[in-house]
Amino acid sequence: MSAQNEVLVRVDNLVKHFPILSGILLKRPVGYVKAVDGVTFDIIRGETLGLVGESGCGKTTIGRVMVRIYRATAGSIYFDGIDLTTVPEREMRKLRSRIQMIFQDPYSSLNPRMTVGRIVEDPMRICTDLTPAERRDRVSELLDLVGLSPRYASRYPHEFSGGQRQRVGVARALSLNPDLIVCDEPISALDVSVRAQVVNLLQDLQEKFGLTYLFIAHDLSMVRHISHRVAVI
Ligand code: ATP
Repeated sequence: MSAQNEVLVRVDNLVKHFPILSGILLKRPVGYVKAVDGVTFDIIRGETLGLVGESGCGKTTIGRVMVRIYRATAGSIYFDGIDLTTVPEREMRKLRSRIQMIFQDPYSSLNPRMTVGRIVEDPMRICTDLTPAERRDRVSELLDLVGLSPRYASRYPHEFSGGQRQRVGVARALSLNPDLIVCDEPISALDVSVRAQVVNLLQDLQEKFGLTYLFIAHDLSMVRHISHRVAVI
């Protein structure tokens, strides 16, 4: 952890309500699912903050609001002092590269029609000015970093095991050199035998690149093992 304990993320009184819609055109809200209702926590730069709580308490929703897959209903998320809930889309595009997500299910979170090389390259194509040759080199470097042979770049996700797919997800998350990675139950869908390997990989990468993790999970023993601090909902 950084010596100064610098706060990288401050989540302040975060609220996310999903409308329950009714009527013929499903336009009339008849109520709300209060998925997240007033959640406050800090994440220190360089730490792993574990986020645990029973199923349905809103952990995934918090992660998704943080990377702005969902917009917050109320409250703030300060990332390096900038409030992600109000920042204009143009500025958010730049910030997105600094905040990445690893998803729970490595089977549904990788596009089956894209090669692994293309999946890892895609964020660079969208968000950087790197040339195709530079991107290819970076893909090889990233695959190597997560313990996959660069030769695998031309293969498709279905040719890989669950653990290998999650490594691809990690390589994709790393491709833009993020500061923060929201890890949404990254090992829950994996075989017990490969869980420790993926956790060790995440820890090695954190050490190497000074990454900050929000680690969402419900396996308390694993969270205790990987986290510097644990927040319970
Ligand atoms: P789990 O550990 O089972 O993944 P969780 O703590 O991550 O659960 P969420 O997935 O964030 O919980 O869900 C919180 C609540 O919000 C649940 O009641 C869920 O049904 C609801 N919810 C989540 N996403 C949506 C959505 N897009 N539309 C409506 N309700 C939603």
